[in-house]
Amino acid sequence: MFERIARCPVCKKQIDVLTSPTKETSGYGEALILGDSRRAHAVESPQCVGAKGWERGWDLDDFVEVPDPPKAKMTPKQYHRGKLHITWEYVIPKEISNTTVDALDIAAQSRALAMLNDGYREGELCEVVDGVEYRGWWRNQAT
Ligand SMILES: [Zn+2]
Repeated sequence: MFERIARCPVCKKQIDVLTSPTKETSGYGEALILGDSRRAHAVESPQCVGAKGWERGWDLDDFVEVPDPPKAKMTPKQYHRGKLHITWEYVIPKEISNTTVDALDIAAQSRALAMLNDGYREGELCEVVDGVEYRGWWRNQAT
């Protein structure tokens, strides 16, 4: 994984850290991610706004390679309905928001139910939440 620090072009203070799996980033993605940080910095440091250089948006340091974040297997979740007994799990980072876990659970249920209708009893899960891809597996255990 790679990181690059985004700095205010005026005071050079760090306003955010961009992470990416490769040394490629898109200006559009950076604009989306850094827009909030820049607005927050404008509030905290209003003297930077309007100063020469502020209109550039941000300065980006060079990429630095960092170790991948630790991964942990989520506790398998279960869903019962009638004869259905679906379990699923994802590989997730150690720090993950409850909102993301909820979104993954909902996605896993609907994906599993759709695949069951197609005759499968287990299958892969691949969901993108807030731009991050999570992979997992579901199965229907006959009871
Ligand atoms: Zn500044």
